[in-house]
Amino acid sequence: MEPLHIPQLANRQDRTLEIIVDTLIPEFETLTPVRGKVIVKHGGTFLDLSAQAETIITLKCDRCLQQYNHRLVLDATEIIWLEEPDEEPDRKGMEIRTDLEELVDSLPPDGHFDPNVWLYEQLCLSLPLRQLCDLDCAGIIPPAEVDPEPSEAQQLLDSRWGILGTIKDRLPE
Ligand SMILES: [Zn+2]
Repeated sequence: MEPLHIPQLANRQDRTLEIIVDTLIPEFETLTPVRGKVIVKHGGTFLDLSAQAETIITLKCDRCLQQYNHRLVLDATEIIWLEEPDEEPDRKGMEIRTDLEELVDSLPPDGHFDPNVWLYEQLCLSLPLRQLCDLDCAGIIPPAEVDPEPSEAQQLLDSRWGILGTIKDRLPE
């Protein structure tokens, strides 16, 4: 997938480009290629992005630390505003940005949009926060308990109790 020149998107029929994805994404290790599609729609002042894709990745269980295969299903949408970085007179001189503003991505209207980078980001965001090989995963199972040899002190104690028991048996009721 080549980076897209944003003004060219506006000239397309329906201002929309559908990209079929069937590829391994560098830096995002998967067992199978990422398969699906990315749809980029030029909305005038914004890009309307969506992706549906699937792949299989190897994760490590948070509880038992075993590796397991996970089917990652991506269904993402995002709006990216088209604005020049210096087209923000209201924000000029403002040191503090709200959290919301930081979440909003923007690109220059005559710039490029890289579907690879965007898809990579969406895949990273879709990773499960809690990685469990199984919902019922019992965690790390200690090695099967072998009956340990009783310690000497334990043996001594047992024999004393044994004697006591014998004496008790001999006492008249
Ligand atoms: Zn597990």
